[in-house]
Amino acid sequence: MSFDLTDPFGRKITYLRLSLTDRCDLRCFYCMAEFMTFLPKKDILTLEELCQISDAFIARGVRKIRLTGGEPLVRKGFMSLVDHLAVHLDAGRLDEITLTTNATQLARYANDLKNAGLKRVNISLDSLDPQTFSRITRGGKLESVLAGIEAGLDAGLHLKINTVALKNDNASEIPQMVAWAHAQGMDMTLIEVMPMGETGENRLNQFIPLTEIRQHLESQWDLIDTDDNTGGPARYVNISQTEGRLGFISPLSRNFCSGCNRVRVTCTGKIYMCLGQNDHADLKAALREPNGVEALDHLLDEAIGRKPERHNFEIKHPDNPSTSPRHMSVTGG
Ligand code: SAM
Ligand code: SF4
Repeated sequence: MSFDLTDPFGRKITYLRLSLTDRCDLRCFYCMAEFMTFLPKKDILTLEELCQISDAFIARGVRKIRLTGGEPLVRKGFMSLVDHLAVHLDAGRLDEITLTTNATQLARYANDLKNAGLKRVNISLDSLDPQTFSRITRGGKLESVLAGIEAGLDAGLHLKINTVALKNDNASEIPQMVAWAHAQGMDMTLIEVMPMGETGENRLNQFIPLTEIRQHLESQWDLIDTDDNTGGPARYVNISQTEGRLGFISPLSRNFCSGCNRVRVTCTGKIYMCLGQNDHADLKAALREPNGVEALDHLLDEAIGRKPERHNFEIKHPDNPSTSPRHMSVTGG
């Protein structure tokens, strides 16, 4: 058994995205169906199992863990996992714990997260207009998110705003959002909508290529390309006028797989080696075997040995718009 987790294409796996729950207090229309059936609790990893799986990855060279969901802050007791990971952070076995959240609950937890050693948090926010926000999230209250953002900034967390570009809902508002984020010292990343799971919505109605958004931004600002590379799919520019950084994540328009250093573990304990492909392995089943920790370690080698070279996302046909049957809320965004 080798120490590091290195895939057949020589990519070292150093980044784990761990989903804590499939549940959420919002219902963003590109992410979930309006009336979602959530998974039975018994299928979800316990907090202890989440800790054990994290430990196994850290022992095999993972240096960064992002907690996601569903909405990670609605998972009861999630701070016990954060505190467990903080021990690894303090001991130098982990470089970073981070979080992707809709921020509705961030006002409650910002200080605890900062005290546990989190530095950077990604906030998903698709509109600054209360009505549009409510429509996109099917009933969410913008004010709770803005309060969460304020509390996060006050706690000294570095916040980045992630915005999914939606042709008919927020595309025209994006310049204003960029200016708002940069004015508060927050970076921002734009994301193309991806075909993940059935949501009862037609993806072709939502999709707008980021090239189009970029052109629009370039008509008013100077966008200066950077070489910033986080090992992920984002390309960054600096905007002279707003003095901030803007990322573009375009999985459908360009392929970003060659530098991929990450895997995802769902809240049910399945490891997906690629966001855009369905091959997976059941870490929870391994962990629940008599020699659970060993079985898990063995399965990690097997799974990483099958990490594919690249994703195969495509929005093909209006009648068959979904390539991946998994919702992002199950896999973890
Ligand atoms: N609830 C948290 C949040 O919204 O930040 C974490 C989970 S959410 C699934 C993670 C990210 O995935 C969010 O930024 C969300 O906008 C994005 N996302 C969800 N479904 C998507 C889709 N079909 N295409 C592109 N991004 C998506
Ligand atoms: Fe919830 Fe995040 Fe999905 Fe929106 S994108 S429904 S906040 S999990």
